[in-house]
Amino acid sequence: MASAAISKVVWVNGPIVVGAGPAGLSVAACLKARGVPSVVLDRADCVASLWQRRTYDRLRLHLPRHFCELPGMPFPDDYPEYPTKRQFVDYLEAYAAQSGVEPRFNQAVTSARYDKAAGLWRVCAEDVSATSTASAGDEDVVTEYIGRWLVVATGENAERIVPDFEGMDEFAGPVSHVSEYKSGEAYRGKRVLVVGCGNSGMEVCLDLCDHNALPAMVVRDSVHVLPREMLGVATFSVAVFLLRFLPQWLVDRILVLLARVFLGDLEKIGIRRPSRGPLELKNSRGRTPVLDIGALARIRSGDIEVVPGIKRFFRGGAELVDGRRVAADAVIMATGYHSNVPQWLKGNDFFTQEGYPRVPFPDGWKGESGLYSAGFTRRGLSGVSSDAVKVAQDIAMAWEQQTSSR
Ligand SMILES: Cc1cc2nc3c(=O)[nH]c(=O)nc-3n(C[C@H](O)[C@H](O)[C@H](O)COP(=O)(O)OP(=O)(O)OC[C@H]3O[C@@H](n4cnc5c(N)ncnc54)[C@H](O)[C@@H]3O)c2cc1C
Repeated sequence: MASAAISKVVWVNGPIVVGAGPAGLSVAACLKARGVPSVVLDRADCVASLWQRRTYDRLRLHLPRHFCELPGMPFPDDYPEYPTKRQFVDYLEAYAAQSGVEPRFNQAVTSARYDKAAGLWRVCAEDVSATSTASAGDEDVVTEYIGRWLVVATGENAERIVPDFEGMDEFAGPVSHVSEYKSGEAYRGKRVLVVGCGNSGMEVCLDLCDHNALPAMVVRDSVHVLPREMLGVATFSVAVFLLRFLPQWLVDRILVLLARVFLGDLEKIGIRRPSRGPLELKNSRGRTPVLDIGALARIRSGDIEVVPGIKRFFRGGAELVDGRRVAADAVIMATGYHSNVPQWLKGNDFFTQEGYPRVPFPDGWKGESGLYSAGFTRRGLSGVSSDAVKVAQDIAMAWEQQTSSR
């Protein structure tokens, strides 16, 4: 998209929050509860667009509900232990309504920089509803928001990762990213190559089986698979409990041992465990362990074929690194996402090139000159809540000082 000239300038009395997902909403709600107004911008036309627009129908929260609540509002009592995607979206919409947070939609932030001389953040956003109808370079689509504080809440999953495989252009069937997948209905009777074996890859394979498709799952790297529950207790709850008394490395060992007891030897079905523990990998590299909700049983029964990495694609399928060929009618890339912060936050080294705060959890929520981040902890929704409370508290203190000295 060609960048257009600024057509409108908006002075923001309070922080500018970029992103109206769970992180942006909870920061704005916590601020509002402390009497601080804010402006929330999102490129999409709804709150929580990741959940509403870019996830599959059968998705449920992976973690028990009490780990996923946002500050100040519990889930309704009648919600199940693992709420459905629809229930979670309803909850987020109710959260925004109850807190009086009204994001400005269709505002895609293309640049943000700190103006040292003025001591203010200048954030440019293009109205994507207008750019889709207006010609490129049209002048009435860019708004510059100016304010004292900037909260980055664009998420760890802002953009899709789509690897560039050799021969991809030759492949005759449709290739899509898992963010476009809704259900296996469209794949009935088809051979589908699912590239990636994280939670999404495994669950899409399960869904494809339920729709009588024939999935093959590409498992290139080692991965931790844990049972979602053990004897009715969530594995995540067990980990959180053990971490109160034991160091992370020991909890990791216990988790791996328990996984072996409950899930058996996964090497036999082509899934290798990493040498580093599941919590260590999650916290240091953001590699979430897979919580099994039935895919392993379908692998063992032969409904899901596990294949090694891809060497190249050809017209009717893919050649694998072990020399085998696998036929496919369609390919789904369950290859993950990345942060987009470096694309638009300029002149600032608070974030790494990968788009994460340089300072690790729990201290990566605050930068300099009124810059904050929420939702980049690699700890899912509980990390989002923890950031939101701290960010709002800090800004509210500065806000009170500023307003009382006026
Ligand atoms: C399939 C899936 C299942 C998951 N399940 C769980 C779970 O069960 N439990 C859990 O704790 N976590 C889960 N997660 C992790 C998930 O990232 C968090 O749940 C949560 O969505 C993070 O909230 P966020 O607000 O930080 O990011 P997001 O929800 O991604 O929201 C970021 C918002 O920023 C907007 N945005 C991005 N770039 C710009 C820009 N340049 N300008 C304007 N707006 C922009 C986006 O449109 C989006 O609305 C899951 C993730 C996925 C992909």
